[in-house]
Amino acid sequence: MTAQAKASRSEANQRLQSTQYDLVVVGGGITGCGIARDAVRRGLTVAVIESRDVAFGTSSRSSKLIHGGLRYLEQKQIALVWEAVNERRTLRKIAPHLVNSQGFLFPIYTHSPLGLCLLKMGLWVYEALVLFRVPKLHTNYSAKKVLEVEPLLASEDLKGSPLYWDCTTDDARLTLETALDALSQGTELATYRKVTGFIRDEDGQIRGVAAKDNFTGEKLVVKGRCVVNATGPWTDRTRALMGLQDQILRPTKGIHLVIDAERLPIRYAVVLHHPEDGRILFAVPWGDRTYVGTTDTDYKGDPTEVAATSGDVDYLLRSCERFFPSAKLERKDVIATWAGLRPLVSEGSEEASDVSREHEIFVEPEGLITIAGGKLTTYRRMSVEVVDRCLEFLKTRGGVSGLREANTATTPLPGAVGWSPTDDHGSMAEKALEAAEGCLDPDTARYLVDQFGARGVELATRIRGNEEACSRLIANRPEVLGVVDWAVEEEFAATLSDVMIRRTQLFFRDKDQGLQVAEKVAQRMATLLDWTPQRVEKELVYYREEVARSRSWRAGGEEEEE
Ligand code: FAD
Repeated sequence: MTAQAKASRSEANQRLQSTQYDLVVVGGGITGCGIARDAVRRGLTVAVIESRDVAFGTSSRSSKLIHGGLRYLEQKQIALVWEAVNERRTLRKIAPHLVNSQGFLFPIYTHSPLGLCLLKMGLWVYEALVLFRVPKLHTNYSAKKVLEVEPLLASEDLKGSPLYWDCTTDDARLTLETALDALSQGTELATYRKVTGFIRDEDGQIRGVAAKDNFTGEKLVVKGRCVVNATGPWTDRTRALMGLQDQILRPTKGIHLVIDAERLPIRYAVVLHHPEDGRILFAVPWGDRTYVGTTDTDYKGDPTEVAATSGDVDYLLRSCERFFPSAKLERKDVIATWAGLRPLVSEGSEEASDVSREHEIFVEPEGLITIAGGKLTTYRRMSVEVVDRCLEFLKTRGGVSGLREANTATTPLPGAVGWSPTDDHGSMAEKALEAAEGCLDPDTARYLVDQFGARGVELATRIRGNEEACSRLIANRPEVLGVVDWAVEEEFAATLSDVMIRRTQLFFRDKDQGLQVAEKVAQRMATLLDWTPQRVEKELVYYREEVARSRSWRAGGEEEEE
């Protein structure tokens, strides 16, 4: 760490210790960051304490869909569908650069669990029910037309497919931009500080949290008039810190495979019924890659250690074999995997995939508010509800003055400020290219705006004339060294893994998972953060371990039960 970075971390720790916050949020996933954004914009003083990086948990490991919840219609969860559809629309408005419409084919075969007529009818009902608030109305393709647009799909017994529209996103970036907005409004965002306990007064009421700085070991006491537990899959562990032993969660694991788009080239996302259990899976085009997911199995281990097993990978590959037989995908085609845990609220003994995705808020009389369940898509609405509950609770502690409207549904996220009014990524890429004054190539300019929105143009302006910053990290990939500087200086990246996994996605997209450039990136971070050679080595070891964990399935890795 540079003297400056050290000083600013120590200053932040001092602020954390000396401020009486209205709200302390534990957990910097999409839920925690969403709550912070809403609360600070309403006028509350807020601190977010995150044990690792923003979006370290499930919020960087989802299927990356901002979806209208078509599947929930089948389960007659109309309220959830309505909420998801409205939130999708809102997120398209506040983050158009990050929430992109995507066509989905839903091919139906003679043996499919769902008939084509029923599906078409269902889509009409869905679109009417949500008052046609869809990116585009669906159309219906004959089997011949389906094979024209997706020639890799199995042709035998294919009856046809609707083409409907939903949205995809970059989950980690959506979380990061939500955090950046909260930060810009005065939230104290404390990453790499782990909450280890709760501070109580003589009446047993919770008055804050005890935390530990993961880098310096410093013990911190952070005072909050209200404390929210937004720790996703860690929810029960966090509740246990205040002595609550009940289990409100039923975490289920979902994994995804990343395949080179040259091996699985698809134009549209494809909805697949798994040939063995009929579960719905997705194959989603992702630039130069395609990802396939997901699984849904109960998980009892440590959330930090969650990883794909060989059984998970083979399960998804069997589905690819059935639907894309000519691709002949094998284990060696898997570039990367990611595994995440759904923080679902336990309801009983139903099948893992039947557990409701709705969220629930628990208010303990001692003053801890826990939010569990929910989805990336509906995080903003969930945040509004949680902050409402916090304000209600705060009335018992003297209330809060000077409250205002948060306007989170209309205020753009940082990358959307100055974004193309017609959501034209191409014209924004041209701006970035111009701004770079010959320093960048068109692919990198496009990458910058796809990734950072209008901030990509700012980034291009900042690195122009700096040959080193404009140089590619990997010859055939668009990421440049300047992105590492930006991650540290503008996006509070504090470890090598923050940059490799959640700021650049090299971990998922590069064929070598970024291992060949890890050292270069670590050295660049070392100059920015004044790391010692020992720290660089530690960062490299940790990153290599993360890569090894994501590849452990290759050695037949199965789950470790606690
Ligand atoms: P997390 O993102 O896990 O955040 C919790 C944070 O708390 C973590 O960063 C963790 O480090 C931190 N933490 C834990 N303990 C402590 C402590 N003691 N001190 C400080 N910090 C702590 N939703 C959709 O809308 N669309 C999808 O396509 C979709 N697909 C999904 C696919 C899969 C496989 C999974 C697993 C989920 C999917 N979801 C999807 C759901 C969505 O991703 C989650 O609901 C959401 O990301 C949960 O966010 P969170 O903030 O609650 O939890």
